[in-house]
Amino acid sequence: MSDLKKYLRPEIVDMAPYKPGEQPGAAKVIKLNTNENPYPPSPKVREAIVHATDRLERYPDPLATSFRIVAADLFGVSPDHVLCGNGSDDILTILTRAFVGPAERLRLPYPSYILYRTLAQIQGARFEEIRFGADFQLSPEFFVRSDKLRLVFLPNPNSPSGTMIDHDTILQLASSLDCPIVVDEAYVDFAPNHAVGLIAKDPRIMVTRTLSKSYGLAGLRFGYLVAHPEIIGFLRKVKDSYNTDAISIAGATTALSDQSWLKENVSKILATRGRMVPRLKQLGFDVTESHTNFVWATRSDRPVKPIYEALKAQGILVRYMDYTQSTAGSWGDGLRISVGTDGEIDAMLMVLEGVLG
Ligand SMILES: *Cc1c(COP(=O)(O)O)cnc(C)c1O
Repeated sequence: MSDLKKYLRPEIVDMAPYKPGEQPGAAKVIKLNTNENPYPPSPKVREAIVHATDRLERYPDPLATSFRIVAADLFGVSPDHVLCGNGSDDILTILTRAFVGPAERLRLPYPSYILYRTLAQIQGARFEEIRFGADFQLSPEFFVRSDKLRLVFLPNPNSPSGTMIDHDTILQLASSLDCPIVVDEAYVDFAPNHAVGLIAKDPRIMVTRTLSKSYGLAGLRFGYLVAHPEIIGFLRKVKDSYNTDAISIAGATTALSDQSWLKENVSKILATRGRMVPRLKQLGFDVTESHTNFVWATRSDRPVKPIYEALKAQGILVRYMDYTQSTAGSWGDGLRISVGTDGEIDAMLMVLEGVLG
């Protein structure tokens, strides 16, 4: 064994790596573990990408202006309110780097998106995981100011629960705390309302979006932030110069322009979710009411990990989430199941019946 780790920052040596959901090589697997869209993106996206390959000898637009113009139009803001990134994970990284210094603090609810912790650790910062209260609502502790608290990450809808915090509560949170609040809206296209309008009410509220879930473009890598232009100006200094490429800019701009494709897709997924939830309940799962393209299924009568394993053995991949160990204490475990096509969900339910029956 070499001793190369002595050269690395201790934070990096000690941190647990963020583990994304598995991406199996085999084509036969029914993949319900990373909340991808089961449907392809708008066919116009492919055309736009092919067209973009005509100019690959040139650097891309560092600010992805074509995309910002379409996004600004969609939200009724100016393009200066929009910052683009290599997936919304890149945006979350930029935000952490810009706002949270070493030994400062970042707050997040628990259980939620595990990447936020990783971002704090890379930065040499601390994270405060604050347990959700009943029904995945924010507990009073979440509103309490703390020393060196520099940023709050609030996924809304939340993962893995699929639940939402209402906008009055977000505004109240912003006025209680002396730091910016990032509302991570990765799943909001499946939800009844979004928080972009809150930015005008409190400029410390920022909203992140991704094209990975609702637009069926997880493979393209494109996300963005909507925030007050003054904040966007500072964040431009932090981002990599070319953090979105010519192909992703072309594809994402076209995808965002095709709102009717998005709506059609979302309504198919919501219909499938509507069929899936009662059947999971019949099979003995407790299913939290979801505003997303996945559901959070738990049970009290038997452990869920063997169910996950049995599904996997039969080629059906869901996400087993273990929230039993954390600084915030145990929350238990569960299965986060993405809403696939009707056929995929029927196949999953059939295998589940066999496993549980
Ligand atoms: C999927 C997801 C993201 C990241 O999406 P990108 O693919 O990086 O754009 C961000 N936040 C949450 C809560 C997610 O589930």
